Amino acid sequence: MIVGAGFMGSGIAQVSAQAGYQVHLMDIQDSITDRALKDIRWSVEKFAAKGLLKEPSQKVLERISPEKNLSSASEVDWIIEAALEEEELKRGIFQELDRISRPQTPLATNTSSIPVTRLAEYTRRPERVLGLHFFGPVPLMGLVEVVKGEKTSRKIFERGVVFVESLGKTPVRVQRDIPGFVMNRIFSAALREAVDLVDQGIATPEDVDVGMRLGYGWNVGPFEIADNAGLDTCARVGQSMKALGAPHLAPSSNLMERMVSEGRLGRKAGKGFYRYSPEGKRLPWKNKNSG
Ligand code: NAD
Repeated sequence: MIVGAGFMGSGIAQVSAQAGYQVHLMDIQDSITDRALKDIRWSVEKFAAKGLLKEPSQKVLERISPEKNLSSASEVDWIIEAALEEEELKRGIFQELDRISRPQTPLATNTSSIPVTRLAEYTRRPERVLGLHFFGPVPLMGLVEVVKGEKTSRKIFERGVVFVESLGKTPVRVQRDIPGFVMNRIFSAALREAVDLVDQGIATPEDVDVGMRLGYGWNVGPFEIADNAGLDTCARVGQSMKALGAPHLAPSSNLMERMVSEGRLGRKAGKGFYRYSPEGKRLPWKNKNSG
């Protein structure tokens, strides 16, 4: 079961279905799961067109059932929470999952910045709670961090590793639950500097992205990554880093918060550090000569 059918949840549902799992994809409104299924269909058909599926795309899609509540948590073998990055919301979800699901079912969170250990404390069996931190877009990115909370049992941690491998992804074990785990700490440090430089008018997002691609061999620049991830999510991660005592991993400027309040949420809103055409093509926010 995947809880939350947004950018990450729909991607995790897709790769799970492609790996042969039956998936319950839960979100709070039909319109959200409808949209997720539409996005998944589009992506699965692209995989099929490239000859990357071993079966017709319809078979993959039939494995995903949209749901509006958590009741089928009682029947499933794995639960991955990928709802909004808000602790109070996740607390409610974990408490309900703890009540409904079978005691041995692993409860994973895809949180980027809330301690796994804290979410585990909202349940009666913290030993079965772990982090499975996917990277977006999930169907394209090969990495998943498997995070051990303070009380996660060794057995559940290793089951997480095996599960990630069964999805065709590469697990990286994170042995201790620290803010931002490993990869987000490193990325946040780069994004912090990039955001501050842009806010001070020293370089444009396009220039920073080109620079990191050509100068350091990154495949995608930090602003392209931030737009794909969602600037609301990135801003919340920065706030969590500060709250968790790692302010050096959050931008000192509030540029992303200001952009979010103007509706510039990144690719999903058609505008963020870049603009996006209706076909999803990335365009500079300003023309080069417009100042
Ligand atoms: P998103 O905003 O695209 O999706 C979140 C979904 O949660 C929404 O569809 C929303 O309707 C749903 N939701 C809200 N309340 C719910 C509830 N009570 N029950 C079930 N669903 C509910 O966000 P996202 O980018 O998919 O992020 C989801 C999680 O994954 C967050 O914890 C985020 O930190 C983490 N994450 C995000 C990225 C990224 O690149 N965006 C990467 C790794 C991890």
